[in-house]
Amino acid sequence: MYQGIFIDAIEANKRFADLMSIQGPQGLNVIFKKPSELMALAQEISAAQPDLVALDYCLNDPLNKPSLGYKAGPLAQQLRDQALETVNQDFPIILVSHQDDINAFFENLTAQNLFDRCFSKEELGNGGSHRLQILSLVKGYKQLIKNWNKPERWSLFFGLTPEEKERVAYQAIRELDKLKAPHQVARDILRYVIDRQGLLLDKDNVLAQLGVAKTGEDVEALLDILKKDKLDYTGIFSEGWTRWWSHSLDDWENNLCDEHLGNMTAKERVSCLNKQFGLKLSPAKSRWQGHTEALFSFACDSCHQPTEEQYSVAAYDALPLPYTFARAHYICWKCVETGEFKDKGLALDEGERFIVKKIQNGEMRK
Ligand SMILES: [Zn+2]
Repeated sequence: MYQGIFIDAIEANKRFADLMSIQGPQGLNVIFKKPSELMALAQEISAAQPDLVALDYCLNDPLNKPSLGYKAGPLAQQLRDQALETVNQDFPIILVSHQDDINAFFENLTAQNLFDRCFSKEELGNGGSHRLQILSLVKGYKQLIKNWNKPERWSLFFGLTPEEKERVAYQAIRELDKLKAPHQVARDILRYVIDRQGLLLDKDNVLAQLGVAKTGEDVEALLDILKKDKLDYTGIFSEGWTRWWSHSLDDWENNLCDEHLGNMTAKERVSCLNKQFGLKLSPAKSRWQGHTEALFSFACDSCHQPTEEQYSVAAYDALPLPYTFARAHYICWKCVETGEFKDKGLALDEGERFIVKKIQNGEMRK
């Protein structure tokens, strides 16, 4: 069983340690610990050789003054520095805090680099997929460490077959190979392979590419077919986050219908899929055009509904993307019109300002 440590100053928050734990021999047991002096605590944690460390953001009990004088960032930094010296003792560090603290934390770009993931105490309390995701982080690190010095390590990390290796290697492996520690690889895989579309696709983007409505019938049956045809990603962190290989989906689409799917409307794509597989899928409807005869390319990063490249604009990225395989975010014209992308924490790319102005003042509707 894997061992985790959760550091939080408030005794009542002990229950979150239980909410992160999973029973069983391949499970995770998270123990609760109150913070103490920074360097002593960091050394104590490292000496325990944990498989996971979870930190509250504040690390202070407001009723118990004086405060320790540090937050989660400096402690995580200290743990990361110590881990750089010994690759095989590297472990995931996650932030487990109240949503308000997480929002404050997200304003600090340097501190973000220190954590593999953030989970709000609110979402931990609501159940859901967080337990599997936390365990997936633990197992992913073990896989990175075990294969760290192997010559074919990237194939092992990504769960690639020999044929796939050439294709994925060309894009990703050479770019990622410069990273020096498991936590750096974990961070970039999570941020640029799992969270971004590009090398892999999430379910919304797979369905958008196939022109399928998310809420219609037989969506799960379609995903089962894709799984059977081995389009699903089985590499590290796949137990926590379901993803699909983008290049495999492109291959799969070829020869499926009379024409290439990219040239067909959603209505035509779905009619072909239904005929091929005996399904009752519904075509997705364009939010901008209001009908299903749309040429969808991907899912909007704001509303997650399928959108046409033609009716989407680029979103602003706070940091330039360090990898060529990671795709920029896009916002559909409908979300630009309603302004709803702002609530999702997205901003528009400056280069799109002329078209954005036209969408917002109604000129594109004429
Ligand atoms: Zn949208």
